[in-house]
Amino acid sequence: VSITRGCDNMCTFCVVPFTRGRERSRDPQSILEEINDLWARGFKEITLLGQNVDSYLWYGGGLKKDFDKASDIQKATAVNFANLLDMCAKAQPHMRIRFSTSNPQDLTLDVIETMAKHHNICKHIHLPVQSGSNRILKAMNRLHTREEYFQLIDNIKRLIPDCAISHDLIAGFPTETEQDHQDTLSLMDYVKYNFGYMFTYSERPGTLAERKMEDDVPEDVKKRRLAEIVQLQREHSEIRTKQYLNTVVEVLIEKESKKSNKEWSGRTSQNSVAVFPKAQYNIGDLVKVKITDCTSATLIGEAIGLSDNQ
Ligand code: SF4
Repeated sequence: VSITRGCDNMCTFCVVPFTRGRERSRDPQSILEEINDLWARGFKEITLLGQNVDSYLWYGGGLKKDFDKASDIQKATAVNFANLLDMCAKAQPHMRIRFSTSNPQDLTLDVIETMAKHHNICKHIHLPVQSGSNRILKAMNRLHTREEYFQLIDNIKRLIPDCAISHDLIAGFPTETEQDHQDTLSLMDYVKYNFGYMFTYSERPGTLAERKMEDDVPEDVKKRRLAEIVQLQREHSEIRTKQYLNTVVEVLIEKESKKSNKEWSGRTSQNSVAVFPKAQYNIGDLVKVKITDCTSATLIGEAIGLSDNQ
């Protein structure tokens, strides 16, 4: 369910501000109508989508950048992302709600508190950090520091201890030194992400980085740094997945497992894939699954009953 278009940030590696234009939010009433309609048609889970969802702001229409010019009434009745999440979670209390993507600089405490308040808001935040080095974050025009990111992570873990966190990371951004790379690895060590999307830097035509920065990290260095990041993430994913052993998780059944037609595959609130024998359950059921085994990315278990949150 699309909730915003465009982006007012100017991350130097990103083409979105030039292709999608300035940020604009969608009327919450039309979002709620779409969600209600999807529920009526049998959908059990939705994802609120935007380039930068946490920046959502509805004040009767208009671009986000013009909010300052809004009337006092418009300002007083404005709906931000935490408000919208709350409205969606209440409108369909049995529908699972996810959202993507969050820019750390815009993710507020209110949003985390709203997630903690509602069982049906999935406990997973995709929180791209791109680099663990303050110098590189600045060069990327990400408007937060490594220390502020840690604070955000601490707040998430304090308010939602079982929240999964994932990332996007870029290896070899222009001018990245060995020390910058080490900062990325140590940031990963601090967070111990559940999973992530990792890339070597490559210039995107039309971006500020392409126009103003030399792509000066040699390809073999980028590849080696990426391999180190991927290896570390593999270790962290394994630690995170193993934490679910011998626990009971709630899984929404999505489809037949790729490996066996006798098993279902679904996802937990934390966005981990879980597989288990089909038994009497069906696609769309929310079931309790006892986890007995795992690989680094998949939970393996046995369904022990329907969830009370059906
Ligand atoms: S990376 Fe995300 S926040 Fe940054 S400019 Fe692109 S869309 Fe906006």
